[in-house]
Amino acid sequence: MKSHLIFIGAPGSGKGTQASKFVTEKGLKHISTGDLLRAEIAKQSALGKEVKSVMDSGALVSDDLVIRLLQANVDLQKSQYIFDGYPRNIAQAQTLDKEVLKGAPSTAVYFEMDMGKLVSRLTNRRTCKTCGAIYNLISKAPKITGVCDVCGGTNLVQRADDQEDVIKNRLQVFQDTVSPVLKYYQDQGRLMRVDAEKAVDDIFGQIASKV
Ligand SMILES: [Zn+2]
Repeated sequence: MKSHLIFIGAPGSGKGTQASKFVTEKGLKHISTGDLLRAEIAKQSALGKEVKSVMDSGALVSDDLVIRLLQANVDLQKSQYIFDGYPRNIAQAQTLDKEVLKGAPSTAVYFEMDMGKLVSRLTNRRTCKTCGAIYNLISKAPKITGVCDVCGGTNLVQRADDQEDVIKNRLQVFQDTVSPVLKYYQDQGRLMRVDAEKAVDDIFGQIASKV
């Protein structure tokens, strides 16, 4: 049986790029819990209504609710999945195994990257204020400096949450919670580490050898 994938990586590590490549080129299904929550609300199912009332109240959606959402939307026999953005901590990793995967083969893929380089990648991110296109001054600069390739807008800005101190704090929090998660998968021989600084196609090939 094919292995499901659990993508783990800091913001800016490129896991989103790989996820969309696996969807278009290998037919995997991408499970982002944020997208699932929005979709379920749009469906106006009983579960969706429950999610909506929690979110409207300003509370965080509980792990229990996320798990029920996954159980309702995931058919592990029928499709091969990429779990993205979940689990975020060890309790969630254990619950995912117990309540959703239930022994189905799965590999956690960790997009490993040097912290300093991640900070530079993220602080060089610019967003077009007009159309939302995302650039990176180092790796994906607009063709004409300061001008959006997509819409020609000239307002390329750094988002507030891409400021250096915010990013450093966010990455530190990520690192602290992800370490035990990595150890959990490592101890079970289910962890694959990829060098997130490699070319997109090299990383794709390394992960594809597993699926
Ligand atoms: Zn634009």
